[in-house]
Amino acid sequence: MDKYTKQRIQKLHPSVRDEVYKIIEECNISLTGKAKIRITQGLRTFEEQDELYALGRTKPGKKVTNGNAGKSIHNYGFAVDICLIIDDKIASWDTVKDWDNDTIADWYECVKIFAKYGWNWGGNWKNFKDLPHFEKKEYNNWRKLSKLKKDKNDYVIL
Ligand SMILES: [Zn+2]
Repeated sequence: MDKYTKQRIQKLHPSVRDEVYKIIEECNISLTGKAKIRITQGLRTFEEQDELYALGRTKPGKKVTNGNAGKSIHNYGFAVDICLIIDDKIASWDTVKDWDNDTIADWYECVKIFAKYGWNWGGNWKNFKDLPHFEKKEYNNWRKLSKLKKDKNDYVIL
């Protein structure tokens, strides 16, 4: 597992860190070495969310998100975005390529492993498919999360 992925796992909500660590390890075993999974984004602060939300609205650029601060599961540390790193150097968002020739697209192998642990894939959403995105099924409602109290490290108390 690469150091960026490890660092990002350490900032997720404390209740899912061990689980995500296991998921990533399991994905890497399943992909057998040519492609490795990397978390490109985990926790996103409310400030970072507002900056993203401004893109394509009050700032130039393409719209990349539907919600402002507090309206993304990333804001609570229950979502991750991934890419694949090929041969330890090239980042790939190809969701159909079968790098390990086992007849299942590597991306989809990861989707299945996340699903086994109760994580939804943004690729299954009806509108605005978000292919790199996974979120914990139990905590995928920002309206509920936004009402919870937070601990001293700013994580919601479950
Ligand atoms: Zn995401």
